[in-house]
Amino acid sequence: MTILDGKKLSNKIKQEVKVQVESLQQKNITPGLAVVLVGNDPASAAYVKMKEKACEDVGIYSIVHKMPNSISQEKILEIINMMNQNPNIDGILVQLPLPSQIDTTAILEAIDPKKDVDGFHPYNVGRVVSGLDGYIPATPLGVMELLKEYDIDPQGKDVCVVGASNIVGKPMATLMLNANATVTTCHIYTKDLKSHTLKADIICVGVGKIDLITEDMVKEGAIVVDIGINRTDDGKLTGDVSFDTVSSKCSYITPVPGGVGPMTIACLLQNTVKSANNREIKKV
Ligand code: NAD
Repeated sequence: MTILDGKKLSNKIKQEVKVQVESLQQKNITPGLAVVLVGNDPASAAYVKMKEKACEDVGIYSIVHKMPNSISQEKILEIINMMNQNPNIDGILVQLPLPSQIDTTAILEAIDPKKDVDGFHPYNVGRVVSGLDGYIPATPLGVMELLKEYDIDPQGKDVCVVGASNIVGKPMATLMLNANATVTTCHIYTKDLKSHTLKADIICVGVGKIDLITEDMVKEGAIVVDIGINRTDDGKLTGDVSFDTVSSKCSYITPVPGGVGPMTIACLLQNTVKSANNREIKKV
């Protein structure tokens, strides 16, 4: 069994991003990322802190717009419009989830698709589904990069994606399909999850449920990618897969932490620099 080491690869990607940032800076361009953080959910605050720190490490300018939980939709839209027009900002992301009074779709649609480094705008979703260039959500992009690093080609493989959210499962399934895999997407209404996971050469699970995937649900030699992030009662980070038992049956598996999580951040940085490079092209 081989560990798919997301921490190691993410450090390599960050180094590459840093070099690209330095070359942009020689042309007087500093890539800029703006983050909207609403409310005081500790997990969201922690993710935003990690993104800020990662930006700092590679020389990307970042600004966080912190807003109270009671903020109005109009106020958030105002900030997004401001950042859409700010030439020093290449990427805009809104940390999800948003409070219930806010229409998340309307907020995501307000982001200029050219600055949508999270890849959640329907414009980018459509482009990626169509196999065109567009911003790809960082988490599933990170999974694909990690598989590539270990020479795992999904083409022709049976892939089971567990979880079907707009930000994880659906784009994950899309990227696998684009890579010529045969994809099954499972979700809360799937009748017999095990019957699908057992057939899979690659299982990608992003649900948010500790021990959802157990040893009996995985075929011998399968590749298991655990996207889930959960906290145990004693505060430890863990994924959706029963790592200790499942890992002995796998050919490859991602750990949590140290698997998909750091890849997500690295790919967000990549997307921001990609946008900054487009700024340069537009200027010429
Ligand atoms: P979500 O709640 O929006 O979606 C969960 C999905 O899981 C839904 O499609 C639902 O139908 C499905 N589901 C729920 N229970 C199920 C069950 N018993 N069997 C099969 N499917 C089931 O969550 P999300 O935003 O997609 O996040 C999913 C997980 O991924 C969370 O643990 C989150 O923390 C994690 N996550 C990790 C990263 C990362 O960087 N590693 C990034 C984003 C999200």
